[in-house]
Amino acid sequence: MLLTVIALSALLPSLHPAPRTSALLPASAARTHSPLAVAAVTRPSTAPIYQSSETPKVLGGLVIGTRQLVVVTGASSGLGLAAAKALAKTGKYYVICAVRDTKKMDQVAKEVGMKSSDYTAMKLELASLKSVRDFVVNLKAFKAIRPLNHLICNAAVYLPADPIPRFTDDGFEMSVGVNHLGHFLLANLLVDDMKKAKNARVCIVGSITGNTNTIGGGLVYPRANLGDLAGLEAPGAEMVDGGKFDGAKAYKDSKVLNMMTVRELHRRYHESTGITFASMYPGCIAETNLFREKRQWFRQLFPLFMKYVTGGYVSEDEAGERLAQVIDDSRCAKSGVYWSWNGNAQQVGALKMKKGETGKYGWEVQGAGGAGGDLFENAFSNDVLDDQKARIMWDRSVELTGL
Ligand code: NDP
Repeated sequence: MLLTVIALSALLPSLHPAPRTSALLPASAARTHSPLAVAAVTRPSTAPIYQSSETPKVLGGLVIGTRQLVVVTGASSGLGLAAAKALAKTGKYYVICAVRDTKKMDQVAKEVGMKSSDYTAMKLELASLKSVRDFVVNLKAFKAIRPLNHLICNAAVYLPADPIPRFTDDGFEMSVGVNHLGHFLLANLLVDDMKKAKNARVCIVGSITGNTNTIGGGLVYPRANLGDLAGLEAPGAEMVDGGKFDGAKAYKDSKVLNMMTVRELHRRYHESTGITFASMYPGCIAETNLFREKRQWFRQLFPLFMKYVTGGYVSEDEAGERLAQVIDDSRCAKSGVYWSWNGNAQQVGALKMKKGETGKYGWEVQGAGGAGGDLFENAFSNDVLDDQKARIMWDRSVELTGL
């Protein structure tokens, strides 16, 4: 039975919809500035993704008051929105929602009941290094001399159905450009400012899919593999390992890069700045827009499968509380670690009786990273722990982002 379940869990998330034709890709898709990529596939040239900078908002001090300032990237949907809401509701944090569409942010904030006095939406297009730099300038104009207290790098794209790669304005494959390089630049540009804050924390959201020591990352193919990082030598590569484009693998690779970045930030800056650097796995939030590329049947079945078969399912709200905890909980003051809840997802969940906060007993699925359970320090996979590769990743990312 267990084997069947593991086999199923390995199979279902890998059932990608049939590839779309390039004609159906969004207008912003398929761009490159690099001759390397032009040689690989023919792509129409289109306008830049980042069209114009935002007029800086100022006088933030008046609205922030005594609250701590936290930036959340990708706060306009899913985990980022739920975390922004969870942080704001404590009354201790003022949230800068760093998003590509500020109007959408204001709309969804209203829908989930976030008060306009608790946040400001600021434009951040992670598919453009210029936008990342503009965002940092705007953030500094807004907050003036007060330091930034916390940074959550949460935004991501997952493009498993794309037959050919999309490229950022700077010519990077979209998953590596948005998920890794954009955040790499952002975090590095903010370290100097954050070191002036007391107990500052940076969290880059990771995933078990990038950890090959889990069911999701080890049994579900394609597996993450950075190879010799040939794809980080110059813009234009389709994959980090220098191979042919595979959207599902590109996402997993980017998550390995995210977790490696956390370890390198910790190694390079924790002692000298006092900043806490961490990664986390929120559980499988099977209903978020991350799965927008998947077919409708998949989007309906996947949450049920994760809830009732693997036990890895967690709701957006609970996942948001988990991410907020990495910033707010005194237990998360340790740097260089990877936080998880309710098991390391190296097996499917087991139904166990557990005493709840009210003292009553109830059933809970334990061990698969899903709803419920407690916070614990998880183990990074060997890919993430490869220090030599991490240094190469760092040097190449510095060069690619022009730091
Ligand atoms: P969503 O798609 O709901 O959220 C992703 C966010 O990233 C959106 O707000 C999106 O903006 C933003 N974003 C995408 N592209 C860009 C860009 N170019 N510039 C700026 N922002 C961008 O997915 P999730 O909430 O599920 O994912 C959040 C994080 O959680 C990711 O890091 C993901 O890897 C991680 N994660 C998710 C899991 C899950 O099961 N869902 C499991 C493990 C980890 P917009 O609102 O405009 O679309």
